[in-house]
Amino acid sequence: MKYFDINQNLSEDDIALRDAARQFAESEMRPVAKQLDLMSAEEAIAEDSPLWPFLKKAYSLGYHKILLPEYYGGLGLSPLQTNLVFEELGWGSFGLSIVLTVVSFPFYSICMTNDEELINKFVIPFCECTDGSIRGCWAITEPEHGSDILAIGEDYFDSDKMKGGVRARLDGDEWVLNGQKSSWVSCGTISTHAMLHLQVDPSKGMAGYGICIVPLDLDGVSKGKPLEKIGQRDLNQGEIFFDDVRIPGEYMFVDPDFYVPMLDIILAAANLCMSNWSVGLARAAFDEAFNYSKERIQGGRPIIEHYTTKQRLFDMFARVETGRAISRAAMNLNLQISPPHVEYSLVAKTQCTEMAFKNAHEAIQLLGGNGLTKEYRTEKLFRDARATLIEDGNNETLARHGGHILMEEYPRAPIDF
Ligand SMILES: Cc1cc2nc3c(=O)[nH]c(=O)nc-3n(C[C@H](O)[C@H](O)[C@H](O)COP(=O)(O)OP(=O)(O)OC[C@H]3O[C@@H](n4cnc5c(N)ncnc54)[C@H](O)[C@@H]3O)c2cc1C
Repeated sequence: MKYFDINQNLSEDDIALRDAARQFAESEMRPVAKQLDLMSAEEAIAEDSPLWPFLKKAYSLGYHKILLPEYYGGLGLSPLQTNLVFEELGWGSFGLSIVLTVVSFPFYSICMTNDEELINKFVIPFCECTDGSIRGCWAITEPEHGSDILAIGEDYFDSDKMKGGVRARLDGDEWVLNGQKSSWVSCGTISTHAMLHLQVDPSKGMAGYGICIVPLDLDGVSKGKPLEKIGQRDLNQGEIFFDDVRIPGEYMFVDPDFYVPMLDIILAAANLCMSNWSVGLARAAFDEAFNYSKERIQGGRPIIEHYTTKQRLFDMFARVETGRAISRAAMNLNLQISPPHVEYSLVAKTQCTEMAFKNAHEAIQLLGGNGLTKEYRTEKLFRDARATLIEDGNNETLARHGGHILMEEYPRAPIDF
């Protein structure tokens, strides 16, 4: 269903990008997401999986490089255009939206360093890739450290008692990497490159981390089994192990001195994406409920004509619009400034994921028993939405981080654009 945009100043280019993304979401993402959802995690990445032709198509259209600057071969979208496209992709499939974005994360982050050598070696080939063969991942969570690793501002964050699950040791001009990342790494078992967070200075605990790029075909790298989970089953996840893996010194593109600010920058960007896709998911749930309410007859008339249904649909619509307003505003702010005002990304992520979850829940309720069956999209939306409350930082951890920023840094000086 067509959905009105409250912003009536969209340019022709904005509208064309949004409509193309909507078409892609409907005709490419939704059918593949449905198939992958019904497969086992192993089947979903097997040679004959529909995932591979999907990736090829998506890469050929440039959907893997939405966040990357035009200068290096990315799409170079404005913050508003990024928001418009991401919302459509989130409407199509939350899991596949993550796939298409996380594959770019190492390359997107390297762009921020302005390191020409790394950009030429890694970013340009990724942007030129049209067959889906170069795929990144963001490897931060560890079996022993989930929320810990994002807990900037907590008293234990920089304690030397916090032992990293992956550690780096300098040997001549090479880093030697050892340890394990958790099964939650998105695209973990299908990626070719990892953006790896790892402990470089153990005396600073979680604050003593650095970030490097690791081509995953190096000696000593191995991967676990793909993870089985309740929602976002179209998103591959799995462990990555490092056993005396050697990388050149220059692959460590963030050292402990700049680690905490960089973590905030990455978190701000990741949370913005999450908020945009969540609005798409909330809208998908609204669509399902709205369309069904027009068809389902109870009490001799379509349920949409009963007073309380109108009210419930309006509440769902209100969540989409509220979520869109904050996610768009936060994207507009934080994709234009550096360092970002992380608290706005945190507001957008926590609120939009909660609203998406509520809409998915309410859509099931409006469909009654049918809402629980595989015949309708609502049960998948609900399972997918449940995972959003945890991924990219569970919402309580993000709220604690936001509260810390408020405590330490408010009131802020006005932002001068
Ligand atoms: C779908 C999905 C995709 C993901 N993608 C990636 C990815 O691409 N890369 C990656 O590295 N990771 C990824 N993750 C991992 C994700 O970032 C972590 O799951 C998340 O940070 C929470 O960590 P945890 O699961 O270990 O929970 P824990 O940290 O163990 O939290 C468990 C509970 O304890 C609470 N808790 C924790 N600390 C405190 C505290 N200090 N005070 C009070 N309560 C506390 C939490 O709120 C939570 O309720 C993904 C996760 C999901 C679900």
